[in-house]
Amino acid sequence: MNLIEDPWIPAIRADGRQCRIAPWQIAETDNPVVELAAPRADFQGALYQFLIGLLQTATAPEDSEQWSDLYHEPPLADKLASAFGAFAPAFELFSEVGKPAFLQDLTLQEGEAKGIAGLLIDAPGGKTVKDNLDFFIKSGQVEQLCPSCAAQALFTLQTNAPSGGVGHRVGLRGGGPLTTLLKPAGASTLWQKLWLNVLDSSNGLQSANTVLSADIFSWLAPTRVSDKTGQATFPEEVAPLQMYWGMPRRIRLEKQPGFCQCSLCGGETESSVSHFITRNYGTNYDGAWLHPLTPYRIDPKKEQLPLSLKGQKGGLNYRHWLGLVLRDDENGDQAAKVVRDFQATKSALLDAAQPLQLWCFGYDMDNMKARCWYEHTLPVMQLGASQAELVQQWAQVLVNCARESAQLLRQHIKQAWYRRPKDVGGDITFIDAAFYQATTGDFYKALAALARHSQNDTSPPQALYEGWFHTLKRALETQFDQSALNATPEAMDLKRVMAARAALFKNFHSSKQIKQIKPAKRPLKETA
Ligand SMILES: [Zn+2]
Repeated sequence: MNLIEDPWIPAIRADGRQCRIAPWQIAETDNPVVELAAPRADFQGALYQFLIGLLQTATAPEDSEQWSDLYHEPPLADKLASAFGAFAPAFELFSEVGKPAFLQDLTLQEGEAKGIAGLLIDAPGGKTVKDNLDFFIKSGQVEQLCPSCAAQALFTLQTNAPSGGVGHRVGLRGGGPLTTLLKPAGASTLWQKLWLNVLDSSNGLQSANTVLSADIFSWLAPTRVSDKTGQATFPEEVAPLQMYWGMPRRIRLEKQPGFCQCSLCGGETESSVSHFITRNYGTNYDGAWLHPLTPYRIDPKKEQLPLSLKGQKGGLNYRHWLGLVLRDDENGDQAAKVVRDFQATKSALLDAAQPLQLWCFGYDMDNMKARCWYEHTLPVMQLGASQAELVQQWAQVLVNCARESAQLLRQHIKQAWYRRPKDVGGDITFIDAAFYQATTGDFYKALAALARHSQNDTSPPQALYEGWFHTLKRALETQFDQSALNATPEAMDLKRVMAARAALFKNFHSSKQIKQIKPAKRPLKETA
């Protein structure tokens, strides 16, 4: 199967019909493809990245004007087919050892043989099965994959690879990175959903000059092994486009002829994959890689390498909005390159009436073990560069105040519950989660109002700040009362609860952060 030429990508057309397409068919305009239809959520995210990577590699636009023209009108399907076609020799899924096979080690003759379920990130390892912790996939459930699902599993693993034991390398962005993609909020074609995430050539990611280069597709040459006599791979040593095609794991799929009913998609094919071989010490990505589709935490002193943001226990909420959509000065989080580039150069070229979203997804990994897969969409506002700067500053104040409030709430609920709160351990971050949940709607309303305010005023939005002050205060009251008074009657000490409540609001009012948004005129002298 050739991943450029053959129709292997599960998709949905405008009339709702499911089909399989070759990559170039994303440019068809008659009953166009509107969405992908992978059999698993992690494959869906991976297929998006496969196609974005292909567009970036083969057809990056020269500048933002050309980007905009193509957003509104895709290239002719024939033209796209021939641009992609130049790369076809690198995209054979199966080949003899010594000939290139997509995302597989060129020369791997021998290695540990594994069942195909081992390609799935949530598949249980040996110890997990023994401990009966195989939540997602019960061992023995996935025995054979059709070539299409095998390709999706392979790309998903190489893209997200967690640590896999001694010498089994993590992905280029670290194990289980967060990926953030821009998407139109309303109806749109798949072409538009993908093209929103393609950068123009000024970003150093221009289309490849030599199409079949091992600097981009590392499987075209023997692997840069990373054992004792091997080497790490730094960004300056290979082409930047390799970021889209990272290959940390040495793998060879073994194709089997004969009828197959795929364990994942249920499709019937004439060949299948039930095993692969693998070996450790594959490409070891090191240094300051900055993948364009992932947000990073940047050390302001530049002493630490950029750290890709990962899945979070408890998922995402609005306190992550700044770091994922713009920049969070409090912790150094910075939106993915495609998102920053969109705000800086592209947003002005699109119809502001068509709202956008940021689709954030990834695994929450505990080393080798997948705890959960999660997805979240956040609103993206179309702001020019100077407007974005103002909104960033003002929204930072809102988020900082919410963080401060959540922290105070947790601290004082603990004081209400326990005589000696400092001695009590345990995870009570569910209190924060409930607090953020309760204030989410108001946050996004305030954010939209900040964006409107920034259109014609550069002074801080005092009235909005005050509104946010009241929102936080109300939420503290409700959440504190619900949680603190929820203890069992014999454990509850009402005097202690009331003292904790008074302390909460005293600290809230005197907090340095909160003072920034507190109403200037106080109707009554406060006694709390
Ligand atoms: Zn399948």
